[in-house]
Amino acid sequence: MGKEKIRIGISRCLLGEKVRYDGGHKLDHYLTETLGRHVEWVPVCPEVEYGLPVPREPMQLVGDPEAPRLVTRDSGIDHTAGMQKWAGTRLELPEMEGLRGFIFKSKSPSSGLRGVKVFSSSGLPVGEGMGIFAAAFVKHFPLLPVEDDLSLHDPVLRKNFIERIFSLMPVTYE
Ligand code: SF4
Repeated sequence: MGKEKIRIGISRCLLGEKVRYDGGHKLDHYLTETLGRHVEWVPVCPEVEYGLPVPREPMQLVGDPEAPRLVTRDSGIDHTAGMQKWAGTRLELPEMEGLRGFIFKSKSPSSGLRGVKVFSSSGLPVGEGMGIFAAAFVKHFPLLPVEDDLSLHDPVLRKNFIERIFSLMPVTYE
């Protein structure tokens, strides 16, 4: 019997699934065709699993870049509390146990790991922050290697991430 593959979480749109707000995907060929041969993906789309449709109104981060809110771009509906509550439940699911890392979709107000644009309530850019689900994930699993698709196109960052996910002993959280 072959060795079991390590399990890596991933933003679902990176696998080519049409879950984005505009009905599209963000298939990443390196992830699906190369890294994907060596790992088992655990896909997560926070916005769809939280209950939003495809397509849907796009959202953006608003307010304090250190603690931004997740708000629909035109209608101004604030999904912050709902998304944080959903994330707390999702991160406790048995499927998330034993993950060895997570690859996030860059720039997303839900899934972006770093550098996501944050706007004032009048729509002016005020800084950069983390997507709501990515922030919840990193808080819940502080020791797990995490990266985003953009960073993994950098050979040095990619090598570093791959070494970490394959060398890491399973982490247990008491
Ligand atoms: S970036 Fe995240 S929330 Fe947006 S479609 Fe991809 S997985 Fe879903």
